[in-house]
Amino acid sequence: MEKTFIMVKPDGVKRGIMGEIISKIEKKGFEIKQAKLFKPSRELIEKHYEEHKEKTFFNELMDYILSGPVMAMEVEGESAIEIMRKMIGNKDPKLASLGTIRGDFANSITKNIIHGSDSIKSAQCELNLWFN
Ligand code: ATP
Ligand code: MG
Repeated sequence: MEKTFIMVKPDGVKRGIMGEIISKIEKKGFEIKQAKLFKPSRELIEKHYEEHKEKTFFNELMDYILSGPVMAMEVEGESAIEIMRKMIGNKDPKLASLGTIRGDFANSITKNIIHGSDSIKSAQCELNLWFN
């Protein structure tokens, strides 16, 4: 069993797509072990996206994630990290396949609806950061 960190980003919450995302996760057979809907602090988001601190899009990313509440979730299941990344799809809306969450619901590389941990190490770090 593997655990991953999933976040529905502010546009997903605002546009009312949260329920559909939760439904997809549940229908895939994964279990949502913890969930919280809240407006994260700048400090939390800066830590979460630390790897992108030097990128040109960092400020835009900060403003966007801080623009409203997000839904943070701990999701558990076999190969949950890799399978959730597949279900989420490419961050570039031009490359995200239809049928993936981003492919179906996002048309912007910044406002791309959802985040999922990309490795065992980042899942552990992110779950620790968001739920401890
Ligand atoms: P996430 O970490 O949010 O799950 P990801 O792992 O698919 O997304 P990353 O490369 O980690 O993609 O980028 C983190 C986030 O930063 C992206 O989801 C997107 O919102 C934003 N981002 C990434 N690249 C760009 C870019 N070139 N222009 C604008 N925003 C970007
Ligand atoms: Mg990432």
